[in-house]
Amino acid sequence: MRPEILNPLFAEVEALKGVGPANAKALARLGITRAIDLAFHLPTGTIDRIRAPAASGSLLGRIVILEVKPFEVRAGQGRAPLRIFAADSDDNTITLTFFNNPGWAKKQLPLGETRIVVGKLDAYGDEWQMVHPEVLEPAASADLALRESVYGLTEGISNKRMRELALTGLERAPELAEWIEPSLLARENWPAWRAALAESHSEPTATSARKRLSYDEIFANQLALNLLRQIARRKRGVPLQGDGRFTQKLQLPYHLTGAQARVIDEIRGDMAQDKPMLRLLQGDVGSGKTLVALRAMLEAVEAGAQAAMLAPTEILARQHIATLQCQCAAIGVTVAILTGREKGRAREAVLMGLADGSIDILVGTHAIFQQHVFYKRLGLIVIDEQHRFGVSQRLLLSEKAERPPHLLAMTATPIPRTLTLTQYGEMDVSRIDEMPPGRTPVETLVISDEKLPDVIAGLGRHLAAGGQAYWVCPLVEESEKSDAAAAEERAALLRARFGADRVGLIHGRMKGPDKDAVMASFASGDLGVLVATTVIEVGVDVPNSTLIVVEGAERFGLAQLHQLRGRVGRGSGASRCILLRGQMLTETGRARLALMRETNDGFRIAEEDLRLRGPGEILGLRQSGEQAFKVATPEDVAELAPMANDDARLLLDRDGGLASERGQAARLCLYLFERDAAVGLLRSG
Ligand code: ADP
Ligand code: MG
Repeated sequence: MRPEILNPLFAEVEALKGVGPANAKALARLGITRAIDLAFHLPTGTIDRIRAPAASGSLLGRIVILEVKPFEVRAGQGRAPLRIFAADSDDNTITLTFFNNPGWAKKQLPLGETRIVVGKLDAYGDEWQMVHPEVLEPAASADLALRESVYGLTEGISNKRMRELALTGLERAPELAEWIEPSLLARENWPAWRAALAESHSEPTATSARKRLSYDEIFANQLALNLLRQIARRKRGVPLQGDGRFTQKLQLPYHLTGAQARVIDEIRGDMAQDKPMLRLLQGDVGSGKTLVALRAMLEAVEAGAQAAMLAPTEILARQHIATLQCQCAAIGVTVAILTGREKGRAREAVLMGLADGSIDILVGTHAIFQQHVFYKRLGLIVIDEQHRFGVSQRLLLSEKAERPPHLLAMTATPIPRTLTLTQYGEMDVSRIDEMPPGRTPVETLVISDEKLPDVIAGLGRHLAAGGQAYWVCPLVEESEKSDAAAAEERAALLRARFGADRVGLIHGRMKGPDKDAVMASFASGDLGVLVATTVIEVGVDVPNSTLIVVEGAERFGLAQLHQLRGRVGRGSGASRCILLRGQMLTETGRARLALMRETNDGFRIAEEDLRLRGPGEILGLRQSGEQAFKVATPEDVAELAPMANDDARLLLDRDGGLASERGQAARLCLYLFERDAAVGLLRSG
């Protein structure tokens, strides 16, 4: 339970003085529902105004407060703007320009009366001009702050009002005991958190205050992850060291890449320890992570343990079992699959085999960790496509065995280096930074969806030449139902063109066996086109499919597009990815798609996407339910995450239960940034 001292800060905005339903509704559009959201709604900058007796060259481009007397109105004809000419105290003429001819402008600027205008002073030809100035009565101008914080706004709330609201939220923020390591605090010369928050509102350019808040947020994140690490590694694990009797017999049609060999060594090194492995394997789409997983699992089996591999989708689980079955049958290792679909006898047989140890390797969806699934000696868990799972799932898995199993998490989401710590701070990281040889890079084209008929014609030629293709339908709103509807519509169109027996359809709403049947006939080549929603995003491997069309490409995250593109280019033939874009595209949207065309390097794409869009949206964070940062910028993360990680680890080394004075303060920090679950770990651990 949240400590009482923080309760006022977590009150709903309606409970605040002077906040009515209208304000609450408007604020909700900005994601602000509680006092703390207001307190953390920090200004994005400041305006500096300058009082001046008259216009002059040195004031050009500045926000100026000027006393003027309007002397002529020139109403705009048609779309021409309304112009009001006014004189300042030096008798300069200032043109006050208003677009859309607002009625209030003429009323507020009566001819011959003195008024104060506030706005950016421009030159217009050899005249002075202000576009859409604020207009005030002379008496009101005395209250005008020369410097004002600028807030992110929404319709119905002015900057002035937003500032009042933010300060009301701030009032609810208590002074709290310090959680930052004293030497670090002294070195950085940061204010205490309450002061830092207040200062961030009053002096948005106060970088040290703002940085402290970023640090607090990153520290909460690092502390939560390191609590996870602590819990996962508290119990002793079982060292697993293979003797090579299976790996030696493994028949591969190719050699390991250097990177694969290196990470296999790292993994074997971890597994030989009695501390359970906690390792993240990052490798771009197609870099050959599955084989690394197989080698790790064989290592476990050779050492007498069982291994389980968790896949995010049924399709992927089935694909893995197909590959593994071939490879393992030949060397005498038993594999089995368990998903929600295994029922009755088949299911019983798998459960028996796991319990009596006759099954060595199990592949499946989260069914493999259900309560009544018992393993004789589970020694290794592999999670494929980790980015599809959240932190809490990582935790759940390690509870499956008495002695915690080794954990290998794999992901193709190319996370920028700077974000790896904040996403997977509790793990050691290995990277496959080399592609298997002989791959031809996928050629990527960005085409306007006006050209849809041409693209379909091109698809026809591709099929006639014996090729296969994926057709990915756009993300629709967030409801699976409409995704499915869009896919069905597109499939109908393509079926009319290429024949019903050549076009398959797969989406998340379909029943498992139906999906399998479609996948199987696509893999066997019976189907030429597979129309799909993003269910094919992860892992699917059909090397003969060398064309992928993605509709509504601008709606996808770049990491996701990169994943989708990774479905082709898996054989040695040339492959092509066509990104169909809508006709209304923002500047950023254009730049993002151009980047996809320019590079096949997943890490570069991730870094750039981060730069173009900000950290919250990338990485499918929402998909996996992980939180993005609200204060810390990517630059802050890059700079502060290593420090915060050290700080958090040091604190936990000394005070694993967060019981000391500083430990208690650190708990507050976890609550403040809503890492409540991490505090929960302390209780269960
Ligand atoms: P991912 O890392 O995306 O999971 P996969 O493990 O599915 O990639 O591997 C992609 C393809 O590359 C597979 O068809 C696999 O057989 C092949 N592959 C894996 N390792 C190598 C290698 N060292 N040399 C050549 N091909 C390889
Ligand atoms: Mg894979």
